[in-house]
Amino acid sequence: MERYDVVIVGSGPAGLGAAFELLARRPASSILVLDKNEFSSGGLRNDCKMNFTWPIGFPEHCWTEAQAASYLARVEAFLEPSILPKRNLDVYGRRAEKIGVRLLEIRQAHLGTDGGLELIKRLVARLAALGAALSLGERALSLDASARVLTTEKRELAYGNLVVAPGRGGFDFLRELMTEAGVEYRDNVVDVGLRIETRQEHYPIVRDYYDPKFLFPKKTRTFCTNSGAAHVVQERYEGPEGELWYSVNGHAWSGSRPANGLVNFAMLKTVTLTEPLASGQDYARMLGRQAALLGGGKPIMQRVGDFRLGKRSFRESFSGDLYDFEPTLPSATPGDIGLCAPAKVMRALWSAMKSLDTVVPGLLHPSTIMYYPEIKLYANRPAFQDEHFRALPGLYLVGDGAGTSRGITAAWAAGLRAADGILAGS
Ligand SMILES: Cc1cc2nc3c(=O)[nH]c(=O)nc-3n(C[C@H](O)[C@H](O)[C@H](O)COP(=O)(O)OP(=O)(O)OC[C@H]3O[C@@H](n4cnc5c(N)ncnc54)[C@H](O)[C@@H]3O)c2cc1C
Repeated sequence: MERYDVVIVGSGPAGLGAAFELLARRPASSILVLDKNEFSSGGLRNDCKMNFTWPIGFPEHCWTEAQAASYLARVEAFLEPSILPKRNLDVYGRRAEKIGVRLLEIRQAHLGTDGGLELIKRLVARLAALGAALSLGERALSLDASARVLTTEKRELAYGNLVVAPGRGGFDFLRELMTEAGVEYRDNVVDVGLRIETRQEHYPIVRDYYDPKFLFPKKTRTFCTNSGAAHVVQERYEGPEGELWYSVNGHAWSGSRPANGLVNFAMLKTVTLTEPLASGQDYARMLGRQAALLGGGKPIMQRVGDFRLGKRSFRESFSGDLYDFEPTLPSATPGDIGLCAPAKVMRALWSAMKSLDTVVPGLLHPSTIMYYPEIKLYANRPAFQDEHFRALPGLYLVGDGAGTSRGITAAWAAGLRAADGILAGS
């Protein structure tokens, strides 16, 4: 059986952060990074906005501000990002403060989907040059944690330490793995919301601040703003019984495609399930299935003008005088979001939209489109044995899939934290 000092499952930012740190500080160690996809590096492919300010991307149950700051400095030193300029924040900040909204000032870099792909190529070449083995198109299947053997679809691998970083898409895999290995976990938090798409002239703040982060009451926030050549996309999820549902998302090209004059961003509400404790993923799946049912197997889109009048949208709602731009996800079904979003979620989202329209007037133009659902699953919260995300001796669980991050830089930082634990022999 092949043996490696460290096997890393997942070549997203969390896996890469761990790999580069281990290679830098213990160059002689044998490291294998494997990924089920033929092309590596997980979520770095998607728009690739990198945030370097607490608390963006850092779940507060497992990071302190001081920890995040010291790890972010290391991530920044490695990735050497170009931080974007920001303007006029005092104007927006003052307006926001008056109505109980916070505008966070974030150090941010933006590579775009095309720039992210270039970064991945450079990182993969660097990984190989440093002597790591990279196996793409190899899915990890199961684990014998006491024997320290990982089974993939191609072979059995013995390891000294295993870092599992399968991202949000790897929830079910991680769940099964934790159950198999006897790692306790909770999964009771989920973000549910809308993706908003509008003309840049109706959300001009993006000219001053690429990805403005607003925090509203009721745990509601803006997230992942894209502009320039910006598009809404659909992600496909499959439940344990093969049932399909979809979440929307957004991305932008950095300059290789012509600008379309549109902006999209998510408006998300965090839902924490408490008593009786239910699974956030099961809840999210149920909401996703409900939307897919009402949308004929697709996400739903509704113009703000129709929503305000309490009317569903129809195909015809997407043409004519006030409705003067085409949705960038035309396959979404025009419909009635109010029929599928829970009332408490929808009230918080709409109230946040109205506040945002006060800070950046124009957002609630009738032509603005709301797509539903946008769901963020990152809530497998394993019970860790130490501060390095060790779940069992020799087993580290990191990144978005393990609930230790919600973004690229935090995922990278989580990988570093696990590498620190391995190097310290934790
Ligand atoms: C459309 C979209 C846009 C986004 N935009 C941004 C953004 O602009 N800025 C930002 O900070 N964050 C963004 N995110 C979130 C960001 O991508 C994630 O926070 C980040 O990638 C998490 O890193 P990770 O390493 O934990 O997981 P991932 O990046 O998801 O990587 C996990 C890897 O593990 C692999 N894997 C999973 N299961 C297995 C298995 N069983 N065997 C082998 N390999 C496996 C996957 O193929 C994947 O390559 C976006 C996400 C999406 C979906």
